Amino acid sequence: MSNTDHSASRAARHLALPQIGAQGQESIAASTALLIGLGGIGCAAASYLASSGVGHLLLCDFDTVDASNLGRQILYGPADIGELKAQCAVSQLGRINPDIRLTAMMDRLSGDALAAVVSEADIVLDGCDNFATRFAVSDACVANHRRLVSGSAIRFEAQLAAFGPDYETSPCYRCLYTEADESLENCAGNGVLAAVPGVVGTMMAVEALKFLGGIENPPGRLTLYEGLTGDWRQVGIGKRVDCPGCGSVG
Ligand SMILES: [Zn+2]
Repeated sequence: MSNTDHSASRAARHLALPQIGAQGQESIAASTALLIGLGGIGCAAASYLASSGVGHLLLCDFDTVDASNLGRQILYGPADIGELKAQCAVSQLGRINPDIRLTAMMDRLSGDALAAVVSEADIVLDGCDNFATRFAVSDACVANHRRLVSGSAIRFEAQLAAFGPDYETSPCYRCLYTEADESLENCAGNGVLAAVPGVVGTMMAVEALKFLGGIENPPGRLTLYEGLTGDWRQVGIGKRVDCPGCGSVG
């Protein structure tokens, strides 16, 4: 069976969805997604974007694999300890789908370099572990009019939100968080149940595939998951006129 046949068979369940179909799958295959952070969230999101045939994945993480990552960062195994996550991810995702393009990025991106990478992508998925990067990625998405899906997980709790600078009324990440919330930042100190980042990363992949597949997908809602009780909640995020990221009052 040729690679083309594999691609058609792989996409069969997407082709059977009237909301995606051949046109949506072609759009997915022609798309580029940028993943910021290849921890538990990024591993899950990248796995589904690769298996779904997103044409080009830009995989950004400067860190190396540590033994303490293996419980939840499912692209890596014991043989990868000490190796660069981005390179290990490319290797494993290439086994999941050899027909897509995978680019490992190991630099700490900021400023013009970050803007250039963001502008190369059709959508950005941020599953990183710190607010400084989240704010910088959001600002780059606003400046370059790129859709951003942002997720975080800690303890048993998860958050997910999509922001759309392509929509005039959409909030940005800084409309949601004006300053770093340290209670959400320290995964090592607070602990995290292994599968919770996987929930977030998988939901981020759902949001990204809908967007890339052409499904109307208005941004601006925050989804909250409490794994301890199994509760889900959604709240609207308002655009702040005085937001330092996207507001009109400077
Ligand atoms: Zn904003």
